[in-house]
Amino acid sequence: MSDIVLLGHPVAHSRSPVFQNAALAAIGSPWTYGVRDVDEAGVHAAIDAIRRGALVGANVTAPHKAVAFAAADRPTPGAAALGVANTLWCVDGEVYADNTDVAGVAAMRDALGAAGAHHAVVIGAGGAARAAVIAMGATASRVTVVNRTRSRADALVAALADHTAAALDAVDLADRAALRSAGVVVQATSVRDADPGRWRDAFDAMPDLVAALDLVYGAAPTGFVAEAIARGVRAADGALMLVEQGAASFERWTGRTAPRDVMYDALGAALGRAPGWASPTAGSAEASAGRAALGE
Ligand code: NAP
Repeated sequence: MSDIVLLGHPVAHSRSPVFQNAALAAIGSPWTYGVRDVDEAGVHAAIDAIRRGALVGANVTAPHKAVAFAAADRPTPGAAALGVANTLWCVDGEVYADNTDVAGVAAMRDALGAAGAHHAVVIGAGGAARAAVIAMGATASRVTVVNRTRSRADALVAALADHTAAALDAVDLADRAALRSAGVVVQATSVRDADPGRWRDAFDAMPDLVAALDLVYGAAPTGFVAEAIARGVRAADGALMLVEQGAASFERWTGRTAPRDVMYDALGAALGRAPGWASPTAGSAEASAGRAALGE
């Protein structure tokens, strides 16, 4: 039985145990991190176990982030703004819920030098897109949401407008004039297509990008990252976010600074590549370790 679990469906593919267990071992913790494929009732059961002290805490992934937020006793203001939680832990018999995806996207933004961009575009309108809008809105003055289903983009903008200082708007991908001034773009859909061609229209509409963040990750480069690099745009995939959101969760559970070097190395070994970012300025798409990009 693991002490900390990742709740979701499906979860077997997750790389989180690889780097969370390496990090726990590195600080001498006896706890272990495992995955638990659950339905909604399973999320409630895990939250009861955390409240009783039978579990130390949990991460939560799709499709249960909203259920976890609603069932926890004390959401942080950050989780409350999003209405979804990915990290649970217990203090004095009460289950706290936070959303560390925002910290993960912010770390990517900073690693890619995109904090100076005035206009950010977020593609997608699910839970990850919500975290991206808050993270990008912390530094950009305008965040534009583009989504396949326009009504979901409109709903996201309405829900988050009071939780960020940035001006939010929702537009269609065909509205090139509205996207023209974008300095940074975040790919927050669940599209995992390795074909760069899928993204050509989107990049054509944003000619002045300095950075492109793909929240999806895998062993091979995503088509989105490949297209960005081909156009001379700094890019990272979601492996960097995965470690950074996981490091923030680790700190909630343990009260200790996360050993990010250990986490990056463990994930890199599992993926067979550095979980970092790619710089077109290095000539070819040269992967840099995320921790180096973060100045650590
Ligand atoms: P979600 O709530 O299910 O939202 C999915 C989004 O993808 C929606 O905007 C949906 O558009 C869009 N989409 C799905 N299929 C599409 C297609 N064929 N064409 C265009 N748009 C499509 O998922 P989520 O929780 O936000 O997660 C999104 C992605 O972020 C996932 O791949 C997840 O793995 C990744 N993620 C990564 C990290 C990390 O640490 N790296 C953390 C969180 C999430 P519609 O509204 O039109 O359906």
